[in-house]
Amino acid sequence: MDEFDLIQRLARTTAVPRADVVLGIGDDAALLAPARGKLLAVAMDTLVEGVHFPVGTAADAIGWKALAVNLSDLAAMGAEPAWATLALTLPRAESAWLASFARGFVRLARRHRVALVGGDTTRGPLTVTVQVHGFVPKREAITRSGARVGDAVYVSGTPGDAAAGLALRMAAHGRRQRDPAGNRERLVARLEYPAPRVGLGLALRGVASAAVDVSDGLLQDLGHVTEGSGVGAHIDAAALPLSRALTAVCDDAAQCLRHALTGGDDYELAFTVPPRRERLLAQRVAPLGVRLTRIGEIVAGRGVRVDGAPAVLAAAGGWRHFRSEPRG
Ligand code: ADP
Ligand code: MG
Repeated sequence: MDEFDLIQRLARTTAVPRADVVLGIGDDAALLAPARGKLLAVAMDTLVEGVHFPVGTAADAIGWKALAVNLSDLAAMGAEPAWATLALTLPRAESAWLASFARGFVRLARRHRVALVGGDTTRGPLTVTVQVHGFVPKREAITRSGARVGDAVYVSGTPGDAAAGLALRMAAHGRRQRDPAGNRERLVARLEYPAPRVGLGLALRGVASAAVDVSDGLLQDLGHVTEGSGVGAHIDAAALPLSRALTAVCDDAAQCLRHALTGGDDYELAFTVPPRRERLLAQRVAPLGVRLTRIGEIVAGRGVRVDGAPAVLAAAGGWRHFRSEPRG
């Protein structure tokens, strides 16, 4: 399979029809018709083998995740995804690998009606870069800078699962492990097939005062919101929504909390909501079937404080700060 075959195959298998794609893959550039009166939201993320996913990760999962992490960024802005471009660096052109990669990518692309409109293909260490493009009405974009004192802090889903999944996967060294309750499988799936909260992001337009997606850990990512907004946050450790799978595999409560507060790769949304809009939030989110938990509030000051956590975790300003602490 040469580069030409590879691109042709990718174009065929990832086709998602959209009226705003005037010319997609195949020419020197794509021709796109941006939505009138809206802002174009653009995000890009790179996944490097051995850095962002373990060596030996299935191609299907890499294809899914490369798009998922990008759609998560659009979700955090309240943007509706439209197009993607893909820069693929491969050690060799292997048709089975590519078919599997494309399947994972297109499953998620179809779900959110994202058209792959172009990209670049090169030889080298396995690296996948996706750029996504979406739209958001001018005044409805959700940024990291709008949180105000008194706002409630929410998180979607059950943070910490992906970090536990990664720990399990690394410990297994590729060996099959006993998993009678399916916890391991569930957590590893949360790592490899994160579901970007696109619908939630759209529902948060006009409701959330600030939002961020949780890619590097809840504390660190919330830290971007407090920093960007010039405020502080108090998080209640007891309120953190821990999944049953997570609590089942943790050695102790402190390890569970550490995953939930500092584990990356969850791709949930953390956001702030003024108290007067919390009823509206509940109404908007009810039909989505997404679990939301109020985990704290925005306060005057700086940084993110965790109340009720073991000493080693308390007062963590974020991942960087936390890393310098002795690990219990
Ligand atoms: P050029 O040399 O003109 O840049 P390429 O051979 O790199 O052309 O690409 C030809 C067409 O295939 C272009 O439309 C480009 O966007 C598309 N393309 C190349 N690689 C990818 C990829 N990995 N994913 C999607 N489209 C791709
Ligand atoms: Mg060209």
